[in-house]
Amino acid sequence: MLCERLEPDLHAYVEGWLTGRRAEHVEAHLKECALCQQKVADWQAITSSLRTLPTLPAPPRRPALRSPTITPSYEVWAVALLTLIILLPTAWWLSRVPIQQVPEQVVRWTPPPIATQLTEQTLQSAHSLWNRVQQEVLR
Ligand SMILES: [Zn+2]
Repeated sequence: MLCERLEPDLHAYVEGWLTGRRAEHVEAHLKECALCQQKVADWQAITSSLRTLPTLPAPPRRPALRSPTITPSYEVWAVALLTLIILLPTAWWLSRVPIQQVPEQVVRWTPPPIATQLTEQTLQSAHSLWNRVQQEVLR
């Protein structure tokens, strides 16, 4: 548990960034803990072997990428023009068509008696069910 908490300080210790009491704390732990001694030895070996690698020159800078400019293609204009060509005459034609009156047969229509009877029965059942629900809730 202590080893896990100490691990960030171990990294700093290997890099030589740790000073003062924290460095003393790490050194005291390292004297007692073989596991952390091994970790530090491994990291030091890795760090020293990385430092032996040759340094390479930085790659040449790439030219900045241009953001693509968006220009509406002629297809977009063609579709817009066609839409206007179709919509404007249609709107003009629709504005000239008189609104038809609803036929009298539709206005006078009355449902057949069986439909009226079924509707009333369904409504009565729904009302009685609703009343029972309210009685149960308000109890
Ligand atoms: Zn440890």
